[in-house]
Amino acid sequence: MSTREQDDQRNPLLEKVAMMETLKQIDNVLIVVSGKGGVGKSTVATNLALSLSLKGFKTGILDVDIHGPSVPKLLNLNNKIPEVKNKEITPIIYPPDLKVMSMGFLLQGTNQAVIWRGPLKYNMIKDFIAHVKWGKLDYLVVDCPPGTGDEPLSVAQLLKEKAHAVIVTTPQHVATIDVAKCITFCRHLDLPMAGIIENMSGFVCPHCGQTVDIFSRGGGKILADEYNVPFLGSIPLDPDIAKSGDEERPYVHYYPQTATAKVFEEIVAKIAEIRVEGQKDPVAGTTTTPNGGGKIAVPTTDGKLCAHFGHCETFAIFETSDSGTILGETHVDPPPHEPGLLPEWLSSQGVSCVLAGGMGSRAKELFTEKGVHVVTGAQGDNPRNIVEDYLKGALETGANACDH
Ligand code: ADP
Repeated sequence: MSTREQDDQRNPLLEKVAMMETLKQIDNVLIVVSGKGGVGKSTVATNLALSLSLKGFKTGILDVDIHGPSVPKLLNLNNKIPEVKNKEITPIIYPPDLKVMSMGFLLQGTNQAVIWRGPLKYNMIKDFIAHVKWGKLDYLVVDCPPGTGDEPLSVAQLLKEKAHAVIVTTPQHVATIDVAKCITFCRHLDLPMAGIIENMSGFVCPHCGQTVDIFSRGGGKILADEYNVPFLGSIPLDPDIAKSGDEERPYVHYYPQTATAKVFEEIVAKIAEIRVEGQKDPVAGTTTTPNGGGKIAVPTTDGKLCAHFGHCETFAIFETSDSGTILGETHVDPPPHEPGLLPEWLSSQGVSCVLAGGMGSRAKELFTEKGVHVVTGAQGDNPRNIVEDYLKGALETGANACDH
């Protein structure tokens, strides 16, 4: 059956249900993007996914690069053919436990260029999410083609509620318009960014093991600071990474003791800390959302949740018990608005959690530094109901309403 015929036979309701069922099982999605090709995005995506998997997280990697899928090659899975039964596709396993799906598996033996327009790509990506037997995943890593075209757009639209973007760049590309476009793309779609990775940053000499800076490095960090996006780390230009790619032996699996593998580990540790709000902590098996036993603050105006965190009139502060009930409620006027002041002030009030409609990324970072948990996109008017819902684990959240 041709893709066009399949497309005509779609039942939107069933598609939606299948998508929802799949998404329920996936805790976190990492969408790996880059402004340009050749910066090592697929290499980074594959090694991140494998690192997460080797650390014991249930992980899948989805390669949505329809025109140049490289994940099967990087994992030496080129000749594998996934089983398809009743529209359900079984992912290929990279041992011991990484689930892998790529258009590359379905294009085997064909040298044909794939010519698909936007809507067909969208449906194909939807199938790759909804009809692949991913099972329960802590992380789904998605390797997108470079740029901000149809594929990353479809992925972001389909997976936004669970996703963070990881932006890969190189020292040469740091200052280019493409990287800025990636950041704008994420902001535009309200897709939170896990951070920026500077790849090929400094050269690891194969003779002495020292790192030599061929191109000026550190631009990734400067860029991250300039755009107020976290910086995840710098991966050196390492001949062993290039070799492992050519030999189809994924780097972190075959060179786990090297300094470069340690960098991957550090990046993974940072990423593992950034989980979708309220998701389970895959390591500890506890929720990252405190169930109670502290002060929870809600910014309000006229007694209702205020969408603009920094411009609220009052904070409703709720004392809560360990068992998740409200013990007391006070309403406190904040000090006059000044950037960066509220996180300091709320933390000095003993607040351990803030439920907000929208909040700028800088304020969020300041709260995180102070150990205050932040939930954005809280829905509803009445602050007490919002806190009660949150304590029950039933708080509905939407987009971060004022993340400028
Ligand atoms: P992209 O997905 O951005 O097009 P790839 O991941 O395919 O880029 O990488 C392009 C080439 O660069 C590959 O040959 C890969 O092995 C190599 N490469 C990627 N990162 C590094 C690195 N840190 N050190 C050395 N070679 C690298």
